[in-house]
Amino acid sequence: MLIQTSTVSWLPNSLTKGLGSPKIVWEPLNSKYGGYYTHGGNEIVVTEQDGEESTIAHEFRHYTQERIGTLGKGKLDFSISYEDMIKKYFRSYWHEYDALLFEYKHAKNPYNEWWLRKLVWEN
Ligand SMILES: [Zn+2]
Repeated sequence: MLIQTSTVSWLPNSLTKGLGSPKIVWEPLNSKYGGYYTHGGNEIVVTEQDGEESTIAHEFRHYTQERIGTLGKGKLDFSISYEDMIKKYFRSYWHEYDALLFEYKHAKNPYNEWWLRKLVWEN
């Protein structure tokens, strides 16, 4: 269901308190990404799709990481298979793994469950 929520108010209060509120901006669906957070920004971009809550949760974690000094930079390796790319990405970058755990905990869906349980945790 497309809810197009424009806040992070559905996340537990203890996780959003004192961090301000990022602006949530919607973009049309594309095949490259579900959303992103720009370093140094105050904006979370989400594409229209199922699972937008998990995208908002993931990008909100990056927003938080920047404010506590743990946000890094990651790069997807498109030269390998999709499954290997996901595995490599979340195993290589701590801040991405942390964001994946965060979205799995607060906005679990079949995708983040598959990525985490099958691709990242299994061999
Ligand atoms: Zn991320």
